[in-house]
Amino acid sequence: MGHPSDIRIDVKGSLKGDDLSATVTHEGSHATDRMDFANSCGATGCSQSLNLTGRQSEQNAYGTEYRFWQSVGQGQQHSSIGSPDQINQFLNQHPDIYPRNTLDNLLFPSDL
Ligand SMILES: [Zn+2]
Repeated sequence: MGHPSDIRIDVKGSLKGDDLSATVTHEGSHATDRMDFANSCGATGCSQSLNLTGRQSEQNAYGTEYRFWQSVGQGQQHSSIGSPDQINQFLNQHPDIYPRNTLDNLLFPSDL
């Protein structure tokens, strides 16, 4: 446990090169979503409009990741995350990694 606003990201040590950069980009987007919400909290509570669902956060993360792949000329190889619809399809096709309830739930409790 660190400072309450510390966010820890675990990245597999076997990742290298563009795969590593893509993963850091993706996970960094999730971290940004959580930081934006945490930073909105004050004495009267938090801005619930910044409390995203898991699906919205994955949309942001895969959208950011896709733009990274495009920037290194590999957009075509990652077309499965090339649009919000395709990202949704991708998420729905991998319920083992993205259980429906995780996608539908908010990142933080709704009474914060
Ligand atoms: Zn993700």
